[in-house]
Amino acid sequence: MAYTALYRKFRPSTFGEMVGQEHIIKTLKNQLASGRVGHAYLFNGGRGTGKTTAAKVLARAINCLNPKDGEPCNECEICKAALNSSLTDIVEMDAASNNSVEDIRSIREEVNFLPTLAKYRVYIIDEVHMLSTGAFNALLKTLEEPPEHVKFILATTEPQKIPATILSRCQRFDFKTLSIDDIMKRLQIICDESNITISNDALRTIAVLAEGGMRDAISILERCIQDRRKRNK
Ligand SMILES: [Zn+2]
Repeated sequence: MAYTALYRKFRPSTFGEMVGQEHIIKTLKNQLASGRVGHAYLFNGGRGTGKTTAAKVLARAINCLNPKDGEPCNECEICKAALNSSLTDIVEMDAASNNSVEDIRSIREEVNFLPTLAKYRVYIIDEVHMLSTGAFNALLKTLEEPPEHVKFILATTEPQKIPATILSRCQRFDFKTLSIDDIMKRLQIICDESNITISNDALRTIAVLAEGGMRDAISILERCIQDRRKRNK
């Protein structure tokens, strides 16, 4: 099993399952529950702090047919399609590999069309600081006059590389590095659900080594499991 398999398998599917970032989750859920969702967000924070997970949950919650207290139901036709990545109205783009003006121009053309199934077309742009200057300019034009049916969720580890003109159009949320306790809590859940017995000391050691990032924590856990399997053979 590759570690990404474990990481993806245990990616939280609701805000409630996420550990840490309570201040951000609370604000987002309040916005969703009261119908005051913004049109552009910037999620800033280190690796594995929950930016992409929160973006995916938010994109579903915005479009869910039966949302509850700001959470997506994960059972309606929209949520299901989003969860199996077949919903074309939620677009995930990695700016590290799609950073040209043309990539953003295609978004600018697309946003003029109504979503096919969902209420909103949501663009999640990861590593947004990697966009070229031309691409940022193209994105800015869309952010300045966003169509009603479009939302943007930008994620970055390096906000200082993003032009101020873009920053000023976004609601910014700063994701904190996760505490050792938060990482241990999540790892324990993963171990329980995977029938893995692990000592508290081992969990703590992994959480310390992960330095505040859940992705690294799960990666280390996965390697420990593989080593143990090898030894037991
Ligand atoms: Zn739903």
